[in-house]
Formats: sequence, C-alpha cells, structure tokens
Amino acid sequence: VPLYEFRCGSCGLEFEELTAPETVPPCPRCGSAEPRRLLSSFAPTPRFGLRGGDARRSEAERRARRERERERRGKG
Ligand SMILES: [Zn+2]
Repeated sequence: VPLYEFRCGSCGLEFEELTAPETVPPCPRCGSAEPRRLLSSFAPTPRFGLRGGDARRSEAERRARRERERERRGKG
C-alpha cells in the first residue's frame, strides 16, 4: 500500500497515510472528510510558490540552521 500525503482543507493539517489510491481518509485532527491528496513525488519548484511549499521549506531551513549552530558551537 502506498504512502500518501494529505492536507486537510478544513484545519490545514498535513499528514501521511497508508491508503488505497482512491481512498481519502478523514483528518486525524478535526475529523473532516475534506483532506486532499498531495503529490509527494512531485519535485517542488521554488520559483512558483506551491501551497504548503513555504511551510515545508522554512521547516527545512530551521533544521539546517539548528545544525549549523550546533556545529559552530562544537568548534567553539
Ligand atoms: Zn482537519
């Protein structure tokens, strides 16, 4: 069973679910039946702001910055 990413149209929660291609699971947070499947294999194109792309990118940046700081601190 493939792993799909969904985004709730009601509360905005993004979650992953192992589900059949034609099945849309209810939102685990608010129970809404509105989640829409995201194309997880889709390569993000930074220039065209995809919805949700910003949040994911800032999360990656935050993680990278944290690692950089940790490195800097280690070197002293
Ligand atoms: Zn929701």
